[in-house]
Amino acid sequence: MIDDRTVQRALAKGGFYTGAIDGLYGDVSRRATRNALIADGHTIAPWIDPRCRIALEQAIMAEAGIETGPIDGLVGPQTRIALERWQDGQRTVEPSPVDIAHQPDRFPRQKDVRAFYGAPGQHQTKLDLPFAMRLAWDTDTIVRRFSIHEKVHDSAARAFARILDHYGETKLRALGLDLFGGCLNVRRMRGGTAMSMHSWGMAIDFDPAHNALRWNRDRARMARPAYARFLDIWEEEGWVSLGRERNYDWMHVQAARL
Ligand SMILES: [Zn+2]
Repeated sequence: MIDDRTVQRALAKGGFYTGAIDGLYGDVSRRATRNALIADGHTIAPWIDPRCRIALEQAIMAEAGIETGPIDGLVGPQTRIALERWQDGQRTVEPSPVDIAHQPDRFPRQKDVRAFYGAPGQHQTKLDLPFAMRLAWDTDTIVRRFSIHEKVHDSAARAFARILDHYGETKLRALGLDLFGGCLNVRRMRGGTAMSMHSWGMAIDFDPAHNALRWNRDRARMARPAYARFLDIWEEEGWVSLGRERNYDWMHVQAARL
């Protein structure tokens, strides 16, 4: 079973659901599910709601590149295997109350970052990591803390704690989520004149070697299902994944909206 929040998020992304991503799968979510399936060309009239829900989960997994067989709302062997594969990548944790405060408007748009964050390179503080990271380009160098903008410090600290909680240290390492690719870096955008979001210390890169700037979801490791929860956690804190939003620079999350 795919968790309710992920289902709501998928429905919202498709434009079928405008309610809160609150993990409460009620009438509005059920209606949105039916509408999404109809829009996708499925004849669902005789299907009861639980079958529609399973069909939607099949569609979500198919979208994530997991082979589910036909989108028929029936849990056959293929769907069962697909769900196991999905769970492997997305072992869900019970969010603590503080995590539920999803405030997507907390961070400014990119065009407003100067007004919100101040001058590039200013107002920095240190973030102590809950697990040791390795410097991506020199993996013998351990990173235990790094400079980050004081306005995003608490949010990032929460995200890192939840990431550790969800994956555990061994899995984090196996996935390369402990490979620190940089945060504060006062510079221009690559190939542009505008300042990089890294100039304010509110963008973080992870595992750049497996998520190169111009790679899309077919190549970037971060686009795989195992990383979905990692990106969900950042998004729940109001951060933006350029991979998810623009399908490039999958290494990068930032506390500024596009
Ligand atoms: Zn970046």
